[in-house]
Amino acid sequence: MAKILIGPAGSSGLGNVEGVKKVKELGLDAMEVEFTYGVNMSNATAKEVGELAKNLGISLSVHAPYYINLSSEEKAKISASKKRILDSCERAHYLGAKYVVFHPAYYGKLSKEECYKIVKEAMIDMQKHIKEKKWDVVLCPETTGKGSQFGDVDELARLSDETGCGVCVDFAHVYARNNGKIDYDAVCKKIKHIKVLTAHFSGIIFTAKGERAHKPTEPERIKELLKYLLKYGISIRIINESPQQLKDSVVTKQILGKL
Ligand SMILES: [Zn+2]
Repeated sequence: MAKILIGPAGSSGLGNVEGVKKVKELGLDAMEVEFTYGVNMSNATAKEVGELAKNLGISLSVHAPYYINLSSEEKAKISASKKRILDSCERAHYLGAKYVVFHPAYYGKLSKEECYKIVKEAMIDMQKHIKEKKWDVVLCPETTGKGSQFGDVDELARLSDETGCGVCVDFAHVYARNNGKIDYDAVCKKIKHIKVLTAHFSGIIFTAKGERAHKPTEPERIKELLKYLLKYGISIRIINESPQQLKDSVVTKQILGKL
């Protein structure tokens, strides 16, 4: 039986401690701690939030900063990107958050295959570091929302097969990237064997270039996703990234309860 956990991205301005309590109060299962503009949390705070989440049975994940490009032409930018991800991993370890989500790279002038190889090398290097430090976390590159960004479903499924990393499937990004189409059967078949899976969902505004902005979740669309996840028996966490992420998470949970 597929186990589907649901919760918001971020603490909705409450701070992580109050955010976790709110998630519990609303009957939700998960929360993503956001380091959007930088990893500005001490290990001590991470431990405190992590203990609370553990006691309340809330599954945590971490979103690493947005400013990351593992295939930059500039070596310094690759090192800075790795550092941001690894700093996120350290906090995630203390948070008890297994999933460390990030947008991996941009193709720039590289071919898809060249970009893939560079990202793979960076992943293996970071995984070595994680192992040395004994951090209990899994790198989860995210499916990205624009054609200029590395990270479609095929690339990340391959990366998972070849490095053992997890994957964050942002279904709204997959939809935006394909001009408002998503073949759930095809996507589910590609991801169902991946051991560590987490996801993002929300309504999304897009152009021909892909993702533009997030918007509230349409109940019919989340219902469609849930039906396919159940059909394929996929255990996953669905982190809602809409502007009303708490409310939409509650609605998602209600819809799931009726399926
Ligand atoms: Zn993301």
